[in-house]
Amino acid sequence: MTTATTPIVYRLPQERRLVTELPGPRSRELQERRNAHVAAGISSTLGTYAVDGDGGVLVDVDGNSLIDLGSGIAVTSVGSANPAVSAAVADQASHLIHTCFMVAPYEGYVAVAEKLNAMTPGDHDKRTALFNSGAEAVENAVKIARLATGRSAVVCFDHAYHGRTNLTMALTAKNMPYKHDFGPFAPDVYRMPMSYPYRDAFGADGVAAARQVISTMSVQIGADSLAAVVIEPIQGEGGFIVPAPGFLPTLAAWCRENGVVFIADEVQAGFARTGTWFASDDEGVVPDLVTMAKGIAGGMPLSAVTGRAGLMDAVHTGGLGGTYGGNPVACAAALAAIEQMETHDLPARARHIEEITVGELSAVADQLAGQGKPVIGEIRGRGAMIAVEFVDATDPAAKIPDAALTKAIAAECASQGVIVLTCGTYGNVIRLLPPLVIGDDLLREGLGVLRDAILKLA
Ligand SMILES: *Cc1c(COP(=O)(O)O)cnc(C)c1O
Repeated sequence: MTTATTPIVYRLPQERRLVTELPGPRSRELQERRNAHVAAGISSTLGTYAVDGDGGVLVDVDGNSLIDLGSGIAVTSVGSANPAVSAAVADQASHLIHTCFMVAPYEGYVAVAEKLNAMTPGDHDKRTALFNSGAEAVENAVKIARLATGRSAVVCFDHAYHGRTNLTMALTAKNMPYKHDFGPFAPDVYRMPMSYPYRDAFGADGVAAARQVISTMSVQIGADSLAAVVIEPIQGEGGFIVPAPGFLPTLAAWCRENGVVFIADEVQAGFARTGTWFASDDEGVVPDLVTMAKGIAGGMPLSAVTGRAGLMDAVHTGGLGGTYGGNPVACAAALAAIEQMETHDLPARARHIEEITVGELSAVADQLAGQGKPVIGEIRGRGAMIAVEFVDATDPAAKIPDAALTKAIAAECASQGVIVLTCGTYGNVIRLLPPLVIGDDLLREGLGVLRDAILKLA
C-alpha cells in the first residue's frame, strides 16, 4: 500500500477461498426459507448468505471467503466491520440507543452536523438535518428548496436515481424495476438530458450540454417557477455516468443567478469514494444543498442534508424531522467512520484504486480489441467508482448495449467468489465499488477474475 498514512489492520484473512460450490448447501437452505417468507419484490445479487466481513472480504455461511467489489452498494467504504466503527457502535449502544432527537437531544447529532458543515463543499455558513435513508434525504432537500423559494417545479435528469419513495421515484429515471406500475407519481417534476459523453451529441463539451438544458428549462418551466435542480455529480445506478467538464459548473452558476436551489445528490459518489471528499469538489462546484447517505456511517443507516444556513433555516420549527433520523448509534458510527477516512487518507486510497483498476481494465479492453471483440465500449468513473460499459461487438460504432453479456459476466464473477454489481439505464454496465480499505493484492485478484470472465464470455 503506497498511500495509507496509517496501516490498515485486518481481522480476517484477506483472501478469496472457495470451500464449496457457490451458493453452498447452507446458503441454499436459507434461500428456501427466504422464498417461503421474504417478499418476492426484494431481490439479491448473490445466492450466498453472508455472516462475516472485513476489509475487502465477505465470508458466507458455508465458510467461503469472497472478494467484495461492491461494498453493499458503496456503503462499507471503511470495511463492513471496521473495528473503530464497531467499537463506537457497541459503546453507544450500551448507553443510549434511542431518544429521538426531537424529544431528548444528544451530542452525537450535533457533532455529526458540525463535521458535515465543515466537510461539504464551500465555506459559507451551513446547517445540517439528519435522516435515515438516501431517499429520505433527497425528499427533504426538495421540501426545503420548495419552502425556501416558494416555487414548486423540480428538475432531474435522464439516467438519474434518487430512491424509491413516491417523490424520489418521480425523480428516478428508470421504469423497470424502480417505478413499474407504482404510480401515480409526484407532480411538477421535469426531466432534462444528462451530459453522457460516450453517447450524447455534445460529447466532451459539457458547457454546450448544460446550455441546452438551461434553454429547455427556461422555455418549458421558467426559472421563476423552478425550486430546484437535483443532480448526481456522478450518476450511480444510471451507469456511473460522469458529465463532461463544464456541465455541472455551468448548471450551478445558472441556478445561482436565477435563485434556483442546486441540490447535489452525493448519496453514492460522496465520502471519499471518488478520490475527493465529495464528487462536486472535482470541478469546485459548491452546491446549495448536499444529500448524503451510503458511505457516511460505516454501514449504519444514516443520511443527511447539509446546506446554506439561509435555506435550511427557512423551514419553520418542527417542519423537519422523523422518529429515527440521526439515531445516536448511527451518529457514533458516522463520527468513527469519518475519522477512519481521515486517518487512512481514504480519498488518496480511492485515487490509488482508480489507478490499479483503470490500468487492469484498459489492458483487457486492448486485448479484446486486438482479438476483434471490442465489447468494452467505455471505461469511466473516478476514484473507487469505476465502471465498464459493454456493447455489441458486431457493430461497435452503433454502441448497442449488451445487457445479456453484462449479466453473464457478473454471474461468472459471483460463481468464482468475486462480488461485482451491474447498473445502467440499459443494464449493460458493470460497476466497481470496492471498500476503500481493500488491499492492492486482493483488488488485483478480484480484477483478474473479472478479466477472465470478460475474456471467456466476450
Ligand atoms: C442509493 C441512492 C439513493 C437512495 O438511497 P437509499 O438509502 O437507498 O434510500 C439516492 N440517491 C443516490 C444517488 C443513490 O445512489
